[in-house]
Amino acid sequence: MKVPFLDLKAQYQSLREEIAVELQKVLDNTAFAGGPFVAEFEKNYAEFCQAKHAIGVGSGTEALWVALIGLGVGPGDEVITADNSFIATAEAISFTGARPVFIDVDESSYNLDPKKIEAAITDKTKAIIPVHLYGQMADMAPIMEIAKKHHLFVVEDAAQAQGAEYKGQRAGSVGHAGCFSFYPGKNLGAYGEAGAVTTNDDELAARMRMFRDHGQSKKYHHDMVGWNARMDGFQGAVLNVKLKYLNGWNNARRAHAQQYNDLLAGIEGLTTPAEMDSSRHIYHIYPILVDNRDALMDYLKQQDIASGIHYPVPLHLTGAYAADHQGAGQCPVTERITPRLVSLPMYPELTAEQIAMTADAVKSFLQK
Ligand SMILES: *Cc1c(COP(=O)(O)O)cnc(C)c1O
Repeated sequence: MKVPFLDLKAQYQSLREEIAVELQKVLDNTAFAGGPFVAEFEKNYAEFCQAKHAIGVGSGTEALWVALIGLGVGPGDEVITADNSFIATAEAISFTGARPVFIDVDESSYNLDPKKIEAAITDKTKAIIPVHLYGQMADMAPIMEIAKKHHLFVVEDAAQAQGAEYKGQRAGSVGHAGCFSFYPGKNLGAYGEAGAVTTNDDELAARMRMFRDHGQSKKYHHDMVGWNARMDGFQGAVLNVKLKYLNGWNNARRAHAQQYNDLLAGIEGLTTPAEMDSSRHIYHIYPILVDNRDALMDYLKQQDIASGIHYPVPLHLTGAYAADHQGAGQCPVTERITPRLVSLPMYPELTAEQIAMTADAVKSFLQK
């Protein structure tokens, strides 16, 4: 039996008929760029996130960029974010003209460490981007407090956290804006590229809506320099179908994580992911820490069990950003964790047998 890292086909098979009907409606309406299917999804997704507004855009990377632009972040500014994120978080900052400042993460949650934020604040700092990595929200209460004290914006990178909660609040409803990716492999995945920004701020929402549609207030009346950052109509229709199942899928991932946790408990040299108090982790990724990571990955591969690394190089050491940062030693926790991280297969349709097989293989490798 094979254990793939992710199985998009299994999920599609369960939705085939429903998706086909909705895609046909988009064709019949020729509603291809933005339009009613996107508007319907925006309404439903805002409600799902407990936020006032959701604005559909072309990708998660674009969502981050649109939110920063909407908040007025630009050249000369600095934006603080987590050193262990996917490169898109940094790229979105760079393409406003601002400079990303990478700081270290907490050893057990793998999220931005609030205790390390204030030392990184300068008179150029404009915003903080906590990344809800692997599907668990960052420690938002102290982050919001620090932001308030220093008059900074908080933009949640919730690309991996659709439906995650922190003290009962959903991802995307706590910061000034929340940014989501619907890349096909995310917990809520489109059938192509898509993203969204959520916010409770009416003015910011209006500005971002205008920006993503060439800065128009009405057709061909451009009040600001904008961009084409609209969501595709087909993606709106697909996401509307899939959103109804997201809570169920997230619960399935949580149950799988519990099974992994139980099977992998008490093994020397192995750390399973920690779920923080009053947090609802949605396990976009299930990462473990081991010493002999590369050898473990090879061993799993020999048995047809896939695994991954999220992510192999900390941002302050990555080619695109290394020259602007301080090299090894800048973020000791990230640097210590990175070579030991390995992500095990995780998706809603994963079976109990596949989890048991994967856990057995990990155990027999570590006890060899
Ligand atoms: C996926 C992801 C993004 C980018 O989203 P895209 O839709 O691929 O552009 C940004 N940040 C994080 C943390 C992600 O996982």
